[in-house]
Amino acid sequence: MHQLLGTPRREVTVSIPLRRDNGDIEVFTGHRVQHNFSRGPAKGGLRYSPDVTLDEVRALAMWMTWKCALLDVPYGGAKGGVRIDPRHYSPAELERVTRRYTSEISPLIGPERDIPAPDIGTDERTMAWLMDTYSVQQGHTVLGVTTGKPLSLGGSLGRATATSRGVAHVAFAALGDRGIALHGATAAVQGFGKVGRYAARFLAEAGLEVVAVSDQYGAVAAEAGLDIPALEQHVDATGSVLDFAGGDVLDGAALLELEVDLLVPAAVEGVLHGGNTGRVRAKVIVEGANGPTTPEADEVLRQADVLVAPDILANAGGVVVSYFEWVQANQAFWWSSDEVEARLATRMDLAWQSVTAHARRLGVPLRAAATALAVERVAQAHQQRGLYP
Ligand code: GLU
Repeated sequence: MHQLLGTPRREVTVSIPLRRDNGDIEVFTGHRVQHNFSRGPAKGGLRYSPDVTLDEVRALAMWMTWKCALLDVPYGGAKGGVRIDPRHYSPAELERVTRRYTSEISPLIGPERDIPAPDIGTDERTMAWLMDTYSVQQGHTVLGVTTGKPLSLGGSLGRATATSRGVAHVAFAALGDRGIALHGATAAVQGFGKVGRYAARFLAEAGLEVVAVSDQYGAVAAEAGLDIPALEQHVDATGSVLDFAGGDVLDGAALLELEVDLLVPAAVEGVLHGGNTGRVRAKVIVEGANGPTTPEADEVLRQADVLVAPDILANAGGVVVSYFEWVQANQAFWWSSDEVEARLATRMDLAWQSVTAHARRLGVPLRAAATALAVERVAQAHQQRGLYP
């Protein structure tokens, strides 16, 4: 079983030639890894980043399998990636890259096969191009081939903020577990993109002081708490948290070592590692990103008795509302935003309860408990289906 679950079911690598706006041709490499289908179609984001490698996509695909099983949504796990820095390409170029990538992987995806969604470097516009390209090839509109679409094109209310909603739910539960009152608790958020931005907003709305925030360009801090709505306006106007008048400049790496009640790494993998985790002073860490903590760092945090809410639990709100979007698209019947939010809250609370109960039962940290629960569910599904032929 270990060997079976440790091996992705399917991996495809494609080459993506792009005609640039100036007529030059460049060739990119893309991947789609489908790790598991035991509980349903594969599900997972599509990442555009210069750091994408097949191994990274494999790891992210496996995490999706555990995340979907843990939240009990009827999916396996997948992930896609294109090795490109989207900041250096025009929207028209990114559209051509997305359409060519979609066309290359189209035999493998579909509402019953594998359903992509946004991840780092992609957004609802990317999903609209993907859905359109797939639909044109099929000869009819297929809304259920992707999630994280624009609202006007079969997206779900609450999807854009869902990962952050889930992060906030888990953060409130984790702080409660440690006896820390929400009002006046301090928080630092690494990343101000699709996850970190709304996480900072929801934390501040609940009365926490968000004392530091960073993005890929730098960090800002204010001891009494940043004015998050003002910071959001500044980011909309300038594209970065840099030069925000309501805070002081901070070194991005120093954000992770601030003395805060809550630290939310919401950017990329491996930011908490053996080299810096000994200096982390947060009491609770809620992983908005996938894989922000290396195994070595995890051990340091365990010894320091820091409560770590693992990625497959903490950031699962996104895929939960992706599931709601897929259900709505397949039924062509749309829910109100209250329905979406209430159903998301129920699922996040249930997952938090099951993981903490399992951790107590096994006497292990939350990551081990969450992974154990998820792996048990996938293994059980596999055993019940049986091996064919
Ligand atoms: N990219 C997100 C994640 O890592 C969302 C995946 C999805 O909604 O399918 O969880």
